Amino acid sequence: MRGYSLYFCKVLKLNEGLKIAIDMAIMITDECINCGACEPECPNTAIYEGGIEWNWGGGTELKEVEMEGGVVIDGNQEQDPVSDEFYYIVSGKCTECMGFHEEPQCAAVCPVDCCIPDPDYEETEDELLEKKAWMHNE
Ligand code: SF4
Ligand code: SF4
Repeated sequence: MRGYSLYFCKVLKLNEGLKIAIDMAIMITDECINCGACEPECPNTAIYEGGIEWNWGGGTELKEVEMEGGVVIDGNQEQDPVSDEFYYIVSGKCTECMGFHEEPQCAAVCPVDCCIPDPDYEETEDELLEKKAWMHNE
């Protein structure tokens, strides 16, 4: 999923050399007990049950998304699950709850503390807020 939307290309270009405060998308580890507590808390519908398909449009205003390479997909087009075993987070939709809450809500409610920063998805606060605005057509 990494960096495959035009959005990410644009943001990375805009913010080249301007990284100041680094934040990260959140990821769910294999310590997840599949309790489901996190899923309804996500303001971006970025959390899905293992084995369930996800889409860009769920919980967002995204009608279509231009992928890297110029292919445009429908926002409701189902995408393959990231995990078949555990609840998972779509990194491209995670804003670390910025603009909605003071802290990541999934991490706040998880009973086993398995929602942790994803080192593969470092983004600045500005990037996360720009992602939120993009997803919610603000
Ligand atoms: Fe959703 Fe917030 Fe968790 Fe990201 S940090 S997956 S936006 S609840
Ligand atoms: Fe897994 Fe934690 Fe979410 Fe429960 S709250 S489904 S243990 S990540």
